[in-house]
Amino acid sequence: MGKKPDYKLIKERYSNIFPYSKLDSPIFKNRQIAKPMTDSIGRFFLDSRISKNIAKLKSNQPSLIIGETHCHSTFSDGLHSVEDILERASRLGLDYVVITDHILPGKYLTESIINSWKKQASYINEWDHANDPVKIYPAFELSALEGHLILILDPEYFSSEKITDISLQFSEFDYQFPSMLDAIPLIKPFGGISIVAHPNQNRSYPFGASIQWVKENLIGLIDGIEDISSGHGYQENYSSQLGIASTGSSDDHFNLLMGTAITAYNGNTHNNLITAIKAKETKAITVDSSIQVLLKLMRQAHNLAMS
Ligand SMILES: [Zn+2]
Ligand SMILES: [Zn+2]
Repeated sequence: MGKKPDYKLIKERYSNIFPYSKLDSPIFKNRQIAKPMTDSIGRFFLDSRISKNIAKLKSNQPSLIIGETHCHSTFSDGLHSVEDILERASRLGLDYVVITDHILPGKYLTESIINSWKKQASYINEWDHANDPVKIYPAFELSALEGHLILILDPEYFSSEKITDISLQFSEFDYQFPSMLDAIPLIKPFGGISIVAHPNQNRSYPFGASIQWVKENLIGLIDGIEDISSGHGYQENYSSQLGIASTGSSDDHFNLLMGTAITAYNGNTHNNLITAIKAKETKAITVDSSIQVLLKLMRQAHNLAMS
């Protein structure tokens, strides 16, 4: 192991790819101001709707396993702790949660992901709430040259020896943006899966890979794609166009939208999310869309301020 890399130099080197200054901008930092508001919308309005709709889905099909496959905690740019997220997920009636904190060169590092996994595993092991704990999966969202990529591993990778293997494999992305073409094969020896995050969603930096690019480059390599994202306000059917697995999720940073769009699979056929995705037998479902109008306004205001 050499000496610690100079992250300032890394940011300078990649400033043409990613506008690091935006992460330090007042508007980004002031997301904290929105926290009390989003917290109360969640507690007093959304939570009961989400849990009621999840209970309804389950009473219609008791073997359905329902979970969140994309959300963020304080281990990257989310505003809530992993403990808050896992506790709320259990209260909402979700069966599993995949927390996908960012790896971004020079900013959000593998070490933070590993710490998140350790924290999640110990919280679930020492679970002391009345309701059942959710199942968790080690995962992260990688900033690749073509856009964001979700990588999810089997829960066995929460064990400390296996965590080391992963951190050795992925820590090079602490210093450089990979292509998805190079990053996806790295997860395969570990039996993990890859999902294109929020496709066709544009930002001034690589964010959502275009469907055309995915079609031309990732078929045979990628496992799934986000057909529904309540956080980005779209509902599509990309997976059937591309012949890959379908996921629905929230990309929640506020512990607010979790559970409003979910990925479901049949628990009689599959014993975990990984095998269900590999078999392309998952389903994206919108659970609640009652605050989409409000979100649209918030996104417009945010994009205006960030542009
Ligand atoms: Zn993303
Ligand atoms: Zn995300």
